[in-house]
Amino acid sequence: MALVRGRDTKPEMKVRRLVHSMGFRYRLHDRKLPGAPDLVFASRRKVIFVHGCFWHRHPEPTCRLARMPKTRRGFWEPKLEGNRARDLQNQSLLKARDWQFLVVWECEIREEEQLKNVLAAFLNEREPNEGH
Ligand SMILES: [Zn+2]
Repeated sequence: MALVRGRDTKPEMKVRRLVHSMGFRYRLHDRKLPGAPDLVFASRRKVIFVHGCFWHRHPEPTCRLARMPKTRRGFWEPKLEGNRARDLQNQSLLKARDWQFLVVWECEIREEEQLKNVLAAFLNEREPNEGH
């Protein structure tokens, strides 16, 4: 699974640094939770996933990183769709256990100010929300 879910990838490190600089503390990769979320805020019952757009099929039509390769579609499509399906399943399991989640996509990380706002809104939110 190393290819699917890279540990300590650049986007993840950037989100970690940002969240840390905002004063939030978290645990990493809690395997007891569905999908072993990248950042876990246990006292808030919130988790953040940092997803690579390609491997996790960012469902945003304008995302260039998520483009399906033109060659070997028969190989890539089921593989990547499988990743996506697993993500959605993990997210509904988290919801069922009363955890809130946020997915930060690789392509969203460049806009640091905007990302900061999204992270702050998510982490400070007290009412349950529907996640992203
Ligand atoms: Zn993307």
